[in-house]
Amino acid sequence: MNIRIGQGIDFHRLGKDRDLWLGGVKIPSEKGCVAHSDGDVLLHALCDALLGAAGLEDIGHYFPDTSQEYKDIESRILLGKTCSIIKEKGFQVINIDTTVCLEKPKISSFIPEMRKVISAILETEPENVAIKATTTEKLGFTGREEGIMAIAVVLLMK
Ligand SMILES: [Zn+2]
Repeated sequence: MNIRIGQGIDFHRLGKDRDLWLGGVKIPSEKGCVAHSDGDVLLHALCDALLGAAGLEDIGHYFPDTSQEYKDIESRILLGKTCSIIKEKGFQVINIDTTVCLEKPKISSFIPEMRKVISAILETEPENVAIKATTTEKLGFTGREEGIMAIAVVLLMK
């Protein structure tokens, strides 16, 4: 069996008057991610991890942020397209592990829904999609609530 690991990382700035989308779920928040798309850092990190595991180019190559086609696009759609790309190459997901770094809001109560949304898109089970959240103890740009970071690791098999 051909098993491949991939990792992805993404950052977005936080701004007022933006919805906060994380893991395909809209979360009540004073601030949201400023981006060309809906700014879902978790799904973007995951797309990059999937593409990396399949030995492909990064998310910006497939969905350029200069393209009007992807303006304000839901990142769930980008994840679905990414999934189609890796399936075409013969890959399927074994498991995914992710971490979101942000100061607030608390997202733990939304994690079960995120796992459901992501696993449905990737045609796997929610128990194969782990999502953790951490603050950075008020340190750095995440601690100052200037931005959010997400990291994803995936294992694929062919
Ligand atoms: Zn992004």
